[in-house]
Amino acid sequence: MNSGITGVFVSGRDFSPPADTCIDVLNIGGIEPESIVDGPGFRYTVFVQGCHFRCPGCHNPQLQNFSGGREMAIGELLCAIKANPLLDGLTLSGGDPFTQAAACAVLAEKVRALGLSVITFTGCLWEDLLDAGREDWLRLIEASDIIVDGPFIMALRDIDLHFRGSANQRLIDVRRSLAAGRAVILPLP
Ligand code: SF4
Repeated sequence: MNSGITGVFVSGRDFSPPADTCIDVLNIGGIEPESIVDGPGFRYTVFVQGCHFRCPGCHNPQLQNFSGGREMAIGELLCAIKANPLLDGLTLSGGDPFTQAAACAVLAEKVRALGLSVITFTGCLWEDLLDAGREDWLRLIEASDIIVDGPFIMALRDIDLHFRGSANQRLIDVRRSLAAGRAVILPLP
């Protein structure tokens, strides 16, 4: 039976991809070229613009709005990453990178091809990302080494956690999780 519902809904939010998805350009809200707080080592962090979650206490509320930000070519970001031999990897944060999954996946694949790691943050749950059956989401999942999932929940805030703000958020080992068919959590406090 056709329910009349179209699109991809996660936690009641419509994550349907835009009709004109561009894979050459990211709409970003900011960059941290040498972050030491968004994952292990020195990381080039890209904060994508736009997030469907409106978590109370969000660290980057200015990145929630989809109409803000500025466009940057994937090639330009890649050049900046290649130019810094100190980097250990790329972190895709935001905002929610899965709202621009196709372009994020292209950048992540190119960064992994350089031998660097990729960490991707999202307000979605790992299980919802896989259940959605979206090709662009699966491509970004496969281009990531670690996914940090789940919204920020103020009641579970813990400043002693590594690389995340609240205790519900999981550091998911992507390769082992895909092989196991379930979320495999990295044993970091
Ligand atoms: S998912 Fe992250 S970026 Fe989005 S509102 Fe929540 S804390 Fe902010």
